Amino acid sequence: MNYTQLAAEALSRADELATCTEVPGILKRTFLSEPMKKAHGLVRGWMQEAGMSVRVDALGNIIGRLSGKNDQAFLTGSHLDTVPDAGKYDGMLGVLIGIAAAKAIGANNLPFHFDTIGFSDEEGVRYKMPYLGSLAVSGLFQEEFFARVDENGITMADAIKNFGLNPADYRSAAYDFTSVKGFAEVHIEQGPVLEKEDLALGAVTGLVGQSRIKLFFRGLASHAGTTPMPGRRDAFAGLSELSVFVEKYAHSVPHLVATIGMAQVRPGGANVIPGEVYFSLDIRHGEQAKLDEATEVILSQAEYIARHRHLTLEIETREAQAVVKCDAALVDKMAAAMAQHGHKNFRLASGAGHDTAILSKVTPTAMLFIRSPGGISHNPIETVQVEDVAAAIEVFTEFLKSV
Ligand SMILES: [Zn+2]
Repeated sequence: MNYTQLAAEALSRADELATCTEVPGILKRTFLSEPMKKAHGLVRGWMQEAGMSVRVDALGNIIGRLSGKNDQAFLTGSHLDTVPDAGKYDGMLGVLIGIAAAKAIGANNLPFHFDTIGFSDEEGVRYKMPYLGSLAVSGLFQEEFFARVDENGITMADAIKNFGLNPADYRSAAYDFTSVKGFAEVHIEQGPVLEKEDLALGAVTGLVGQSRIKLFFRGLASHAGTTPMPGRRDAFAGLSELSVFVEKYAHSVPHLVATIGMAQVRPGGANVIPGEVYFSLDIRHGEQAKLDEATEVILSQAEYIARHRHLTLEIETREAQAVVKCDAALVDKMAAAMAQHGHKNFRLASGAGHDTAILSKVTPTAMLFIRSPGGISHNPIETVQVEDVAAAIEVFTEFLKSV
């Protein structure tokens, strides 16, 4: 089979996987749900057909191994779970490309074992906690997670038992990373960058870090008709000033994105001066220093606005997700494999989270992004082009030979 045929096969398999759903008419497949069993049946068959031996670990990750010549292993994989009303390629395509690469390479042709992992959970829909699959594989899963309950009151431990697995074995899902050479994930970009650059593929340098802050401006609510303009303490006017600043500032710093996505004006009457606004800040950048600096600049501006408008500023919650760096040597190898097949050496940071973020804590990682037409994902209109998938299989196969 040539790469175009392998790509066409991967895409028809994605169509088949999309029939494994909890909700007829849309695609929704969450952690260890009934349709995940059917998905495992399909994936198992395809892995075996590619010459892989197949196992399912205690957290429901399905793993196909293409045997190599020594006991080291190189891993690929992505997630088999979806968001509600998902597209067919987010996650699944990475698993299908791992299988296609195994089929292209054949058993005992690599110096190491090549494992393709279909992670049981990355989206975190069922237990409101993402990365359950990759946490287990990475040895970072914690026993206390088992007590979480889904919306039907089923604990995670019971969901695992109902799937025919034993939660007590969770430690055995972890790899011994002393014998793992690295992990590389193929994924659709889920954004517009590659399409804008007119490129099929991009080598991912890392995953952006994020500051998530919820905060209040508080002023004084008062009658909109009887309170003269001088001396008003309008909390929403303060947020408006901040919002314009945030947009302008983010435009001025390359690769910075910053968003006020939630704002509640209180008390919220048309004839009342806003006494309080509750709002969110979402700030993301691929470089930790730039992210930290941007967060400080925006928060100091909020403090400045509060001071000169006689408001108070209160930070309710402040969460941070650190920047994840892929392994420079592996990223170079991915870019070299791209160049070898006539692709531009184009690199970008991922704006979304991926299983790679977890694996990066325990092993060298790389990612290969495939162009997302329209930049759309987490939507049933999510799509991918067969020639881009063929290019990804070819480049990924080349990359595996070079690690
Ligand atoms: Zn994904």
